[in-house]
Amino acid sequence: MNSIKEFINGNKERYISELKEFLKFPSISTNPENKKDVYQCAEYVKWHLDKIGMENVTIYPTKGHPIVYADWLNAGEGKPTILIYGHYDVQPVDPVNLWTSPPFEPAIRGENIYARGSADDKGQVFIHFKALEAHFKQNDTLPVNIKLIIEGEEEIGSVNLEDFIAQHKDLLKCDVVVISDTAMYDKDIPAIGYALRGLCYMQVELAGPNRDLHSGQFGGSVENPINALANMITKLKNKNGKILIDGFYDDVLPLSNKEKEEFKKLPFSDEKYAESLGVAELFGEEGYSTLERIWARPTLDCNGIWGGFTGEGAKTVLPSKAYAKISMRLVPNQHPDKIEKLFTEFIYKIAPQSVKVKVYGLHHGKPAITPVNSKWVKAAFDSLKKGFGKEPVFIREGGSIPIVVTFKELLGADTVLLGFGLPDENAHSPDEHLNLNNFQNGIITASLFYNELAKL
Ligand SMILES: [Zn+2]
Repeated sequence: MNSIKEFINGNKERYISELKEFLKFPSISTNPENKKDVYQCAEYVKWHLDKIGMENVTIYPTKGHPIVYADWLNAGEGKPTILIYGHYDVQPVDPVNLWTSPPFEPAIRGENIYARGSADDKGQVFIHFKALEAHFKQNDTLPVNIKLIIEGEEEIGSVNLEDFIAQHKDLLKCDVVVISDTAMYDKDIPAIGYALRGLCYMQVELAGPNRDLHSGQFGGSVENPINALANMITKLKNKNGKILIDGFYDDVLPLSNKEKEEFKKLPFSDEKYAESLGVAELFGEEGYSTLERIWARPTLDCNGIWGGFTGEGAKTVLPSKAYAKISMRLVPNQHPDKIEKLFTEFIYKIAPQSVKVKVYGLHHGKPAITPVNSKWVKAAFDSLKKGFGKEPVFIREGGSIPIVVTFKELLGADTVLLGFGLPDENAHSPDEHLNLNNFQNGIITASLFYNELAKL
């Protein structure tokens, strides 16, 4: 076992120079002008997986950017099959003038490598490539069966991935999914993510008079839909941050006492957090800590509101229409379809007779949770502890990774979130970077993780 760790530590420089090659591709999935770069990056992923010893390495075209698949299934009877998911596409780089070094010319400064995609997600994908390679080089074999699916559309909503999984259920059949596309809790605090929030995103439209009216001639005689909408929004939540939609909390899985205790142990300062956001004080649902509010409680927020006159100067208009976008972050076991129904019914209930109401859903995602006492999580815990020399903490994610739910529904497999980034590594922002110690310890951890899984 030690030999693989020694091998990995003896190859540090090579890993970094190879990672630089991967980071040089401007694989920005949302830009049509980068379509060829995205494809070339997929070809690089294929070439690299072939080179390290993976089998059946294939580029699957989709209606958008291709998916790269590879496997190695010779671990022998009774060994589990692990599906590693990641993405080789990246976010746009604007504003490019805020980058200290060009986003596709990887540069080392201090402990970090700077480039678009270094943390999200090429660097983390590469951790698995190098861990697999270390097993092949040292042992000529892998301890478990491995399947890899590396897509090129994660940053644009994985638009073709669900169809691909549905059409390739046998190919992707596995015992557990591993995703390294999240962050550790903090520097030197490795973490296992075990839950994600979901989303229910709605649009509300109110129509008042049949045309925009002169507020002098008509003002005071008819309902102003903007006033009505603002009034309705204030009825969705009380001043203690509790959501007032009937039945909204019915399916919420409460935090266990153990989880509450674990969250309390994590270093976190409300003062520093408020300061970093430039607010005088925090606000959230009464009776819950900030981490509980972000990770394990549902929310409701108005994301945008518009109508009437918003140009420069004054126009005395009594508008005909008003609009709002309102989204709710959901937690296990809430279902976005049910929440959409409850939200819609509540909006109709509180709308005044004087306006016409239209409500519809824009975007949904289901929340996800993996049991923390599962054998997969235990294996991740043990390998992180050895790889980083520190016990990992259990965290939830406030955001969503919809693909986790897809894997569960279509393949029946739970996901372990084994993230090696850091919360302040500027994913999606200028000067994105990855800590190279975490990169190196990540490779060791991943190689140990495959060993731990082989024992199950
Ligand atoms: Zn990502």
